[in-house]
Amino acid sequence: FLEGRAALVTGSTSGIGLAIARALAACGARVAINGLGDAAQIDAAVGAVRDAGAADVRHFDADLRDPARIAAMMRDAQAWSPIDVLVNNAGIQHTAAVADMPAERWDAILAINLSAAFHTMQALLPGMAARGFGRVVNVASVHGLVASVQKAPYVASKFGLVGMSKVAALEYASSGSRDSGGVTVNCICPGWVETPLIEPQIEARRNGGSRDDGVRALLSEKQPSLRMSLPDDIAALATWLCRREAHNMTGAAIPVDGGWTAQ
Ligand code: NAD
Repeated sequence: FLEGRAALVTGSTSGIGLAIARALAACGARVAINGLGDAAQIDAAVGAVRDAGAADVRHFDADLRDPARIAAMMRDAQAWSPIDVLVNNAGIQHTAAVADMPAERWDAILAINLSAAFHTMQALLPGMAARGFGRVVNVASVHGLVASVQKAPYVASKFGLVGMSKVAALEYASSGSRDSGGVTVNCICPGWVETPLIEPQIEARRNGGSRDDGVRALLSEKQPSLRMSLPDDIAALATWLCRREAHNMTGAAIPVDGGWTAQ
């Protein structure tokens, strides 16, 4: 259902972003990927998205800490194709108490997890409105809905992303029509997902035991299902949000968290 459409997924050289890029490709979209990595990792990501069925796939290089690089990426991507689906997925984490949090980590987390999404949305939403169809899917977190200790910049960035998404959803709510699909802006709020991002937190809870012991300890703190999500589980929801039938689902922050935020 995304034949003839183009998607940009930030942070799609790994983890959830790569799974979303592959899933959008499988729905027929042309896919612009972005993210850090050496040439081999970027080639592997491009190959995986192509193998998933992308009509076209390109990597757009930009370190999202730098607004000038984001602006250049948005110009290059839109010269490649008008973008119908924007997935702001890139994100980083650093855990430390407020008193010990390096100011440099605060700046980097806010820049990548929050400000980059502002810049990409600002570049693309007007074009989506003019065409009557657009989807913005922002990968937030349960930490956009509730807090945990030692994550001040991450929680601030994800609450900010949820709030900004609601504002944009309201501003574009009446764009397009039921037939054209409209312009929607939503957040997905995962609990624990099996990706490289959370390995340091698993490692910190191993307590001399195996990796599985670390995973069990992590899940038992907050995620009642005691199961991690897989990146493909999150990607399935992201693609559903891109369907025409999802035209009236906007401004939502959808938990995929095994019951974490039901408590
Ligand atoms: P990951 O580390 O596997 O992937 C992160 C991606 O972001 C990579 O492609 C990386 O290259 C990219 N990235 C990092 N810094 C960048 C920069 N400066 N410029 C451009 N790209 C950059 O992590 P993931 O777990 O797949 O995380 C994806 C998103 O999901 C993040 O926003 C994260 O906060 C969110 N999330 C993850 C979990 C989880 O349990 N893994 C839970 C909730 C939310």
